[in-house]
Amino acid sequence: MTAKAPITQDMLTIPRKDTAGGLPNLVGMTRVQMRDALIKAGTPEKQAKMRVGQIWQWIYHWGVRDFAVMTNLSKDYRAMLAEKFVVAVPEVVTKQVSDDGTRKYLVRIAGGHEVEVVYIPETDRGTLCISSQVGCTLTCTFCHTGTQKLVRNLTTAEIIGQVMVARDDLGEWPEQGAPKNEVRLLSNIVLMGMGEPLYNFENVRDAMKIAMDPDGIQLSRRRITLSTSGVVPEIARTASEIGCQLAVSFHATTDGVRDVLVPINKRWPIEKLLDALREYPKVSNSERITFEYVMLDGVNDSDADARRLIKLIDGIPAKINLIPFNEWPGSVYKRSSNNRIRAFADIIYKAGYASPIRTPRGEDIMAACGQLKSATERERKSRAQIAAETGTA
Ligand code: SAH
Ligand code: SF4
Repeated sequence: MTAKAPITQDMLTIPRKDTAGGLPNLVGMTRVQMRDALIKAGTPEKQAKMRVGQIWQWIYHWGVRDFAVMTNLSKDYRAMLAEKFVVAVPEVVTKQVSDDGTRKYLVRIAGGHEVEVVYIPETDRGTLCISSQVGCTLTCTFCHTGTQKLVRNLTTAEIIGQVMVARDDLGEWPEQGAPKNEVRLLSNIVLMGMGEPLYNFENVRDAMKIAMDPDGIQLSRRRITLSTSGVVPEIARTASEIGCQLAVSFHATTDGVRDVLVPINKRWPIEKLLDALREYPKVSNSERITFEYVMLDGVNDSDADARRLIKLIDGIPAKINLIPFNEWPGSVYKRSSNNRIRAFADIIYKAGYASPIRTPRGEDIMAACGQLKSATERERKSRAQIAAETGTA
């Protein structure tokens, strides 16, 4: 793999106003942004808060996209909305269903880019794995997405839109007048798809705030897990500004090995990462941090690794999620044997930590962890191109 030139965050920032056909999209606006937009469109200031509440419920509680259906708004007001705004979500291009019930959606976003979204049904929950970027700037050597060049950050609308299109497909918007559905098909969100969510902090934060909003999709912050490769400065912000569950792609117990597997480790090595993680539960009031640990044959899977891991995380409320490596075309690593994974899990378990082994889901449709990669792979753009496209030129 060729080295990628670093891209700084400000080069990726795309305009917060999300447009489709030139009109601002109401999806993805925070309540404050929607209020401002409605006032700018002529809504009297005194009414604006109420109108936001009404529109918000239509979009995020009822799943309505057509202004004509928003019957508690006057006809004239609906006409004004239809003239000045859109309610737009990404387009689902293809849907594949795995033998095990996992669904993988390929969704198209502005600019013709595509990202993958995976729905994983389980007996007691249904988890949606969403993406935060098209591609990834980081180059973790075991990750398929890491071989794809970063194209751009997703907007807030594109992030929450993945949840909305999955709910469309699952038929999960409530029927008007029907009793509240207690069993949710889409009950959990994990930010474990394509991209590094903490390199797209504001958009991820605003989208998750929408997902948690009590007047809409209403998912508890305890049911949202953000996975990071270890962007240390943004971890404290995640605790205070999102407050969701945190997972960290740990994967190695020495800086030497982690530098290779998760190269961001060269910038923020294990000790610095652990310092940030120690603070996280206090600030976010969450219970445990999930340590993701991909099991790579002969690389990071020895008994000594397991023991070092226990030492390193001492004092951090933690669960260690062991992920059998999922192969992809061209990958250089091999999955550790089942016996090795079990022996590793056993050492951790005996030290008092939960150590579940993640069952690969949707492998037959390349939907398992680390297998996602946009079919529309693109060459790296020049900095000037990115700046021009993202309006930061
Ligand atoms: N960029 C974020 C979130 C996306 S990756 C992060 O790195 O945390 C989601 C999880 O899948 C991470 O723990 C990642 O390390 C893991 N993963 C990536 N490639 C994998 C593979 N080929 N097999 C198994 N897990 C993989
Ligand atoms: Fe990016 Fe996460 Fe893959 Fe690393 S593991 S390349 S951070 S998506």
